[in-house]
Amino acid sequence: MKIGKFSLGVGDRFEHEGEAQLRAIQRATAEGVEITPVWNKSNREHNIVHSEPSGTRKAADQAVAVLGWDKPYFVDADHINFSNVDRFIGVSDFFTLDVAAWIGKPSSEEKIAAFKQSCKALGSEVKIPGIEEPIVITGALLDEVAAKYLTAIEEAAKIYRHIEAVKGAGNFVTEVSMDEVEAPQTPVDMFFILKMIADQQIPAQTIAPKFTGRFNKGVDYVGDAEQFAKEFEEDVLVIDYAVKHFGLPENLKLSVHSGSDKFTIYPIMADIIKKYDKGIHVKTAGTTWLEEVIGLAVAGGEALQAAKDIYIGALARKEELCAPYADVIDIDNNQLPSADEVRSWSAQKYADTLRHIPGHPDYNPNFRQLIHVGYKVAAEMGERYTGLLKENREIVGACVEENIYERHLKRLFDL
Ligand SMILES: [Zn+2]
Repeated sequence: MKIGKFSLGVGDRFEHEGEAQLRAIQRATAEGVEITPVWNKSNREHNIVHSEPSGTRKAADQAVAVLGWDKPYFVDADHINFSNVDRFIGVSDFFTLDVAAWIGKPSSEEKIAAFKQSCKALGSEVKIPGIEEPIVITGALLDEVAAKYLTAIEEAAKIYRHIEAVKGAGNFVTEVSMDEVEAPQTPVDMFFILKMIADQQIPAQTIAPKFTGRFNKGVDYVGDAEQFAKEFEEDVLVIDYAVKHFGLPENLKLSVHSGSDKFTIYPIMADIIKKYDKGIHVKTAGTTWLEEVIGLAVAGGEALQAAKDIYIGALARKEELCAPYADVIDIDNNQLPSADEVRSWSAQKYADTLRHIPGHPDYNPNFRQLIHVGYKVAAEMGERYTGLLKENREIVGACVEENIYERHLKRLFDL
């Protein structure tokens, strides 16, 4: 089972927007860019919404059937670990092995020695085509990368073997992710991570590092775009080298856990993958949930009231809702409108405040991030929320489709 060159990870927390998401991807396909949809939902999201992975599978299958999509698609067990993978194993065919928590955990002396021994074959320096500075292999460097990553990749191997024992080799796509950490991984780190992945014989098809800069949920990239471009390009070149020299799957590609809406760096990524004719996987997870709220606001009446109640509820429980996302949100409390203020808003004002149109005078990234983490409030509304989604299916679906196509796919794939 191989993932195509271009793939888009889409999240659908309440499992009502699969068709709208797929319509956006169909539009890109009609324009000549084939993109594989991957429906992803993490264990954390399932726990907060009280849903099960089988629901994600069912929604994906249904969207595919209704729209007659006859190309590949996947269901991603996103950010899973050894303790929760079983919940996903039967229904998923894409597994994101999250081993970030294992970075820096000590390995045994024997394993470190074996790793260093295996690196002798690299010689005293490695020159990666396209990267100016060679990687100078020193004992100190090997000790450093072994201390950081050896245990993490061993853990990835343990999870991978567990899935393989159930599903059989070749019957699923494997991603290794380390993105949910403070410190970015450099292209040199990436080089050794890929060597360790190859040593452990994990047939990873996508790899998700932590890039430089902040990838806050649902808002634009914050950081040095030039530095990002340099790292991203070097990562692409390191992957190319690792495929050729370490025997990793030839379609191995970067997976960018974008946290959605990284409009500043989408064109940078697009240029680089075009330059080297490489593939990419981009996860946009939370965008669809925000579009649901925008759609409900636009619909007006009771739906607008529900959108307001979601914000007011989230504002009152800000700390609780933000806690699981501490590393990936950045909300300035002084920029959050009060509950009373939002109560007085029109549909237009609410939608314009939430919708991510950079430069729009009403757009408020703080408001947007709080709604992003506020899906628990909607989950607790139960049928009030999902009933409104059904009633306003067309308006909401149009928002979801437009957002993925116009704001994401167009910027990512030069459509
Ligand atoms: Zn991630």
